[in-house]
Amino acid sequence: MDKKVLVIGAGVAGPILALQLKKIGFDVEIFEARSEGNTKEGAFLGLTPNGLNVLKEFIDLKLLTKDYTPGSMKFFNSKGKQIAKLDTAYQKQQYGVETIQIKRANLTKYVRLAAKAAGIKIWYDKKFISYHEDNKQITANFADGTMVTGYIMLACDGMFSEVRKQLFPNTSALKYTKVISTGGYANVAELSEPLDSIRMNFGERGFFAYSVSDKGEVWWFNNYFREQEPKPKEIEKTLNTEIQAYLADIHQHDDPLFSKIIKNSHQILAYPIYDVPKLLHWYKGRVCLIGDAAHGISPHIGQGASLALEDTVVIAELLKLHKDYRPAFQFFQRERQSRVERVIKSARKVGNTKTKTNPVTAWFRDRLIGLFIKKQIKQLDWIYGWIFPLKNRN
Ligand SMILES: Cc1cc2nc3c(=O)[nH]c(=O)nc-3n(C[C@H](O)[C@H](O)[C@H](O)COP(=O)(O)OP(=O)(O)OC[C@H]3O[C@@H](n4cnc5c(N)ncnc54)[C@H](O)[C@@H]3O)c2cc1C
Repeated sequence: MDKKVLVIGAGVAGPILALQLKKIGFDVEIFEARSEGNTKEGAFLGLTPNGLNVLKEFIDLKLLTKDYTPGSMKFFNSKGKQIAKLDTAYQKQQYGVETIQIKRANLTKYVRLAAKAAGIKIWYDKKFISYHEDNKQITANFADGTMVTGYIMLACDGMFSEVRKQLFPNTSALKYTKVISTGGYANVAELSEPLDSIRMNFGERGFFAYSVSDKGEVWWFNNYFREQEPKPKEIEKTLNTEIQAYLADIHQHDDPLFSKIIKNSHQILAYPIYDVPKLLHWYKGRVCLIGDAAHGISPHIGQGASLALEDTVVIAELLKLHKDYRPAFQFFQRERQSRVERVIKSARKVGNTKTKTNPVTAWFRDRLIGLFIKKQIKQLDWIYGWIFPLKNRN
């Protein structure tokens, strides 16, 4: 098979998708808008067994645990009393791998290196702007005036997908949810040894989570509620100070360690959360949307990367099975949509539990959270234990 597939975006899904396609005989090239060295953006994200089991085919997972924190969690109330525990050790037995948190920049670095090592060309500074197709081929146009032609185009260009806009111009815009996922990195003398779990703290007036990586760096995160959608300039310049001041204020009566972490942060990241409108179709003609481009999800249950990775397995298997892209695209959406919608719903539910605290809900939460988590572990098997039914690889 010498059909060329154009993959737009070298984030998490793009390079792994290219590897899957190359394995089944496609000629693949990736086109990424950002420059080669520009992988700094983004904080850290969760990778759960369903995503890790896709990655492990192409990446030595030991690489990912060179700068990471474990995914186990311990929950504390505002008095510092442990009220629940979610230990991920059981996952190792059940799924062969265990949830971790890693820096997004490292994840993109490793998936790109794996693609490069397999001989896949990644073009940088190639911002997709438009396309046209006929009955033989598709042509993508880039902001630098260049163009490229292929058999099909698979769009892994993320939440703000330009391909999606071109494909379905009448789809409503992304909706700002008034929540900004924030996180940061700090060095704190009292917290220089790696921790076995993420400390999830329901403080007196707000939630604050932190862990310590294998390198002795504190990684923290929480949600910041902001009525007005931040402008890109604000995210770049002033939002960090605004978040830092807000956190210092709401945690002033909590464990003094929180204030120290906030004060000592050498990097603070803000990632506004959007609701992506449900699309009627994920494909049109020779183009199909993959990962966040098709179904962006809030980061509350750490499934954005893992779902995008699952997508790469499914679309590659279907293209192999059907030979023709039309049924492959159709079955791809049919296979994936109900699952991702269910996960998106769960993410929203979890997001709602990290909202502002009031004494009555806090009283109930402190007593019920242990039971809730036990139930959740059983319920999460449908997410973590994912295996694509058509999968038949040697
Ligand atoms: C800069 C950034 C920071 C992020 N930070 C976080 C975070 O802190 N926490 C979290 O949970 N999730 C974060 N995410 C989202 C998370 O990475 C995704 O949910 C997950 O990786 C899904 O993978 P994906 O491949 O579908 O999309 P992404 O990993 O988002 O990859 C999309 C890729 O497409 C490229 N691209 C975009 N537009 C074009 C274009 N017009 N032409 C060519 N290429 C294009 C982007 O530069 C990017 O490399 C971030 C994403 C980005 C892009």
